[in-house]
Amino acid sequence: KLTVEALRRALLATADAIEQQKDELTDLDREIGDGDHGINMSRGFQGVKKELEAQNSLTDLGELSKLVGMTLIKTVGGASGPLYGTAFVKFATKWKDKQSAEGEDLFAGFKEATEGIKSRGKSQVGQKTMVDIWEPFTAALQTDTSLEKVIDQALADTKAMVATKGRASYFGEETKAVQDPGALSSSILLKNIAEVLL
Ligand code: ADP
Ligand code: MG
Ligand code: MG
Repeated sequence: KLTVEALRRALLATADAIEQQKDELTDLDREIGDGDHGINMSRGFQGVKKELEAQNSLTDLGELSKLVGMTLIKTVGGASGPLYGTAFVKFATKWKDKQSAEGEDLFAGFKEATEGIKSRGKSQVGQKTMVDIWEPFTAALQTDTSLEKVIDQALADTKAMVATKGRASYFGEETKAVQDPGALSSSILLKNIAEVLL
C-alpha cells in the first residue's frame, strides 16, 4: 500500500540519496554519455524537495504525483527529465483523488508510468535504459518476490547490456562494462518507494 505520506517520504529520501550518489551518476554518464546525469537529477530532486517542503496540503496521490511530474519536467532537462516527468504525470492519471493505492491500483499506476516512459522515449526493454529497471519492478508488483532483490537483479542485468537507445548508444560495445546512469537513478527512486510500501 502506498499512501500520500509514504510517497512524500520516499521522494525526500530519494532527493537525499541522489545528492549522495550525484558524482557516481555523473561519472557513469561521463563514460557512456555527456556527463550530466547526476547534475540533472540533483537539480530535479532538489526542486521536488523544495516543492514538497512548501506544500503541506497535498491530500491525494494524484495531486502529489502531478506536482512532482511537472517539477521534474521543468527542472531536470536532458533526455531523462521528460521521461521521469512522464512517469509521475502518468501516476497522477491513475491515482487521481486517491489517498492511497494498493494491489491492482498500485500496479496500474506503475504500468501506466512504465508504458509512458517507453512511449515518450520510443524505447523498450533490453536497450540498457531506465526502462530495464521500471519494467521488472512493475512486473514484480504482481508477485510476492522482494522488490529490492528484483531491482538489484535488474541493475546487474542492465549493466551487461549493450546500449541501443539514447546517447549511450553511440558508445556501442563499450557500454557493456558500464552501468547505465538512468538505470541507477531509477533504482534509487524505486527502492525508496519499495521501502515505504505498507
Ligand atoms: P541526456 O542523455 O540528455 O544527457 P541524462 O544524462 O539526464 O540525459 O539521462 C540519461 C539517461 O536517460 C540514460 O542513462 C537512460 O537511462 C535514459 N534514457 C535516455 N534516452 C532514453 C530513451 N529513449 N528511453 C528510455 N530511457 C532513456
Ligand atoms: Mg547525460
Ligand atoms: Mg545531457
